[in-house]
Amino acid sequence: MEQRTVIVVGGGLAGPLASLFLARRGYTVELFERRGDPRREAVEGGRSINLTLAERGLHALRRLGLEEEVVRTLCTPLRGRAVHRPAGTAVMPYGRLEHEVLYAVSRAELTRYLLGVAAAEQGVRLHFHQQCDELDRDTAAATFLDVRTGERRRWRAGFVVGADGVYSAVRRQMQASRYVDFAQYYVPWRYKELTIAAGSGFDRNALHVWPRGERMMFAIPNRDGSFNGVCVLPEDGPDSFATLHTPDAVRAFFERDFADAVPHLPDLEAEFLGRPEAAFPTVKTSAWRHRDRVVLIGDACHGVIPFYGQGMNAAFEDCVILDEHLARYPDREAAFEAYERTRRPDTDALADLCVQNFTELRDTVQRPRVAAAKQVALLANRVLGDRAMPLYTMVSHSTIPYADCVRRARRQERVARLLGADLAIGAVAATMVARDRLRAVRPRLAALARPARRPAASPASAASPAARPARLSVAAAAAAPAAAGKGESRDTRAAA
Ligand SMILES: Cc1cc2nc3c(=O)[nH]c(=O)nc-3n(C[C@H](O)[C@H](O)[C@H](O)COP(=O)(O)OP(=O)(O)OC[C@H]3O[C@@H](n4cnc5c(N)ncnc54)[C@H](O)[C@@H]3O)c2cc1C
Repeated sequence: MEQRTVIVVGGGLAGPLASLFLARRGYTVELFERRGDPRREAVEGGRSINLTLAERGLHALRRLGLEEEVVRTLCTPLRGRAVHRPAGTAVMPYGRLEHEVLYAVSRAELTRYLLGVAAAEQGVRLHFHQQCDELDRDTAAATFLDVRTGERRRWRAGFVVGADGVYSAVRRQMQASRYVDFAQYYVPWRYKELTIAAGSGFDRNALHVWPRGERMMFAIPNRDGSFNGVCVLPEDGPDSFATLHTPDAVRAFFERDFADAVPHLPDLEAEFLGRPEAAFPTVKTSAWRHRDRVVLIGDACHGVIPFYGQGMNAAFEDCVILDEHLARYPDREAAFEAYERTRRPDTDALADLCVQNFTELRDTVQRPRVAAAKQVALLANRVLGDRAMPLYTMVSHSTIPYADCVRRARRQERVARLLGADLAIGAVAATMVARDRLRAVRPRLAALARPARRPAASPASAASPAARPARLSVAAAAAAPAAAGKGESRDTRAAA
């Protein structure tokens, strides 16, 4: 009986999902979470973060018959990335096909939902306020401290699943006094959450990014029209969390770098100065398991930084892969061994992709060449189909193993270079630069045109060009690129 019982440590995102897979494979599951039950207690402020759910996560939910309900009741579809640059905002589509979208979901709502489904599942019991502080890896016995009463209790099972996040206590105890490869490192940036109020007018079906080189902000929509913003700054130096200490300094910094967001950040100073700042750890490690007694999933074995929007998706995919191996191998130790051997190269590759994408999101995405390369890649995908799938498409809209995505993307790049893709990218980039320059001079052209048309204009109307958009567009149209007059709004345009 004990052999068919599993202790799952961690009731975040991966824990409840793994419990469902295990229960449906006939195990009795005891899930322990050190925090309170989020279905009954408020979530810690400044730590609610919205997430993007992509194909790997959806696939795991689909396996359990939950995808349709999650998407319908909890999610907002995101069709692309809206890049806010000083010159204007451009939307880069996430894919070329209708279903190639991401879904925004609130971490708190998804956790509550998954815990609710797990609680209703036969064979799953949930225990809250229970912190794992001791593990006997040879006997799969774990001791939990009740953080409210201080009482400690030991539980024993067939095996333990460590789903207790990037600072996993299960991992620490399982790896103690063993020769393991372990690397934990931090990019030198920190983040805080900020709230963008409903009614901002920002596209609710896009993930918004403000790339500013060393600094950035991104925002993911809530279902009520507000956005969960995340401000990412260097850990120290000018304009960092270490130096922006006063309301005036915060406002001046935002007015300079994120001006179009400022009117929609009603509690900017209070949130910026009052909310906790957090770091971005990456964890890579060997030894995801111990014999047939302990196994790790999710951030506990592969913490990645969030700039590919894949941490949760990878954690959900772990649950599918572990489940498949448990089905394939009657010997549990063999199942755990195969799970680690096949999965670890993929999550190591993901960790590197996430760091690369951080550079893209905060910096290079604003470069015309990067936007142009994305357009050309999507075009090639349209013409050649699966033979030219962009890396982003493979990672976000497929379940191709991450390491294979990287290998395929490199191969495709080599072929594309031979076929002259660099020339195409250069041409598209040049067009984009020309378009931006024309946009920049448009107001000046309009200003030049104005006195000639209306020599007697009053100071008030002259100071308010937005009051006469029709005249401005007449003046600008002569110089505007082909895209002008296609019904686009002031500064929002699909880049591809
Ligand atoms: C700013 C930010 C944005 C992100 N955006 C995305 C995104 O858009 N898409 C995406 O896919 N991923 C995203 N991620 C990553 C994602 O949040 C994680 O990969 C995901 O939460 C991992 O799930 P997990 O269950 O492994 O760990 P967690 O969600 O961290 O859950 C671990 C749980 O274990 C509990 N616990 C810890 N220690 C113990 C203990 N000793 N005893 C008992 N319980 C314990 C914790 O309280 C927690 O509830 C983002 C992360 C951050 C920080």
